[in-house]
Amino acid sequence: MIQSAARQCLTVGSRMHTSPQTILYIEDDPASRSLVSRTLTHAGYRVLVAERGLEGIDIARRERPDLILTDINLPDLSGREVTTKLRSEPQFQTTPIVALTAQSLHEFRDMALAAGITGYLTKPIDVETLPQRVEYYLRGGRDTIEQEKLTEAQVRYAQEVVGRLEDQIRELESANSALRRLDKMKDTFIQLTAHELRTPLTLVFGYSRLIEDAAPIRALVNSDPNLQVLMKGLQDSIKRMQDIINEILTISRIMTNQIDLSIAPVHPGLVAERVVNNLLPALQTRRVTLHFDRSTWPELMRGDADLLALALANLLNNAIKYTPDGGHVYLTASADDQVIRFSVKDTGIGIAPEEQERIFERFHTAGDTTLHSTSKVAFLGGGLGLGLAICKGIIEAHGGRIWVESDGYDPERLPGSEFLVELPVDSTRHPAGKS
Ligand code: ADP
Repeated sequence: MIQSAARQCLTVGSRMHTSPQTILYIEDDPASRSLVSRTLTHAGYRVLVAERGLEGIDIARRERPDLILTDINLPDLSGREVTTKLRSEPQFQTTPIVALTAQSLHEFRDMALAAGITGYLTKPIDVETLPQRVEYYLRGGRDTIEQEKLTEAQVRYAQEVVGRLEDQIRELESANSALRRLDKMKDTFIQLTAHELRTPLTLVFGYSRLIEDAAPIRALVNSDPNLQVLMKGLQDSIKRMQDIINEILTISRIMTNQIDLSIAPVHPGLVAERVVNNLLPALQTRRVTLHFDRSTWPELMRGDADLLALALANLLNNAIKYTPDGGHVYLTASADDQVIRFSVKDTGIGIAPEEQERIFERFHTAGDTTLHSTSKVAFLGGGLGLGLAICKGIIEAHGGRIWVESDGYDPERLPGSEFLVELPVDSTRHPAGKS
């Protein structure tokens, strides 16, 4: 006869429970799960179920069940391994863990006990006796095994675990190399596609220039303001597409370690000035004030001027892009004998702490992609999420580092962001830098 576990427990003195005792049942077979759940629930227990070993461990840690019933053959960790893992945690050292399995041979039972199992029940499940067996183990009952058999079973169990570990490592290694192959194929695909697109685009750009320069067309365009707007739109769009393709090519070179620095003496102030001058129209359109005093910049360093300019341009573009109209951007630098530091600080929307590392990953954009626009500097008009990955690649190839500081993301309060860069004064000393 099935009795209520809650009622039974009231009579057990020191182990008195006012709420039903909890049983966690780890089993991948739905029919067994449902039968055992029904039987034990009917007997007054609270029953939790897990379909896999790792899920069972998680639920056990969270719910601290009074007893764990587990199948042995599970899709991930075996019931034995689940037990060994749980036994290594102080809160489960005395929890009854009972196997409920179709493996009826003695060797299997011995190995389960060697793994730390308290009791061993075999299928088919006997719904008449199951609640009593559970009650027995809950009251401290346990199966026994002779010492000699236990030692033998421990050796077999250790061999089984190591064997499984080896299989898993081999499987992981082969999955890893398949992923690496796929990753390489994707890099090659991106690189080839960008190359293929660049050639016709260069032609389109050239043809548009030829058309514009043809005398009759020039006369026509000059006489019609609408045509001037169309021509400018055409050229801006071509330029934007060229920038995107170049960004993709640069990032794929950086990511495949094909970045080739042309190290030479560089005047950082001059580089910065050149970048700032290119941004003047955008600053004007967006009414953003850029604070930059070239006279305070260090005189000389060694590095790749074009790539450093690209990194700085990306940082300044972002500072403008993520700062509302009328805001401020500060570009400053300092240096000692070894290191040159520069900072791009803005009064914009800021960056959430959890995003501050991820934004340097390629194709990571923290903003709302529906707000993206084709403009590089329109407020919140995002790009491909490549700009900062490119900056990081360039700075690190120079042996430097880049990071961001911000009090968080808040488009109302505008906490701003500061991107900080440290570069060795002489990048030739870094392995990636070649003169
Ligand atoms: P994107 O092309 O999307 O701007 P980036 O790699 O340049 O790509 O930047 C990645 C993300 O980092 C952006 O989508 C944006 O959310 C965030 N971000 C970059 N710079 C700033 C900044 N100055 N202020 C606020 N957020 C920024």
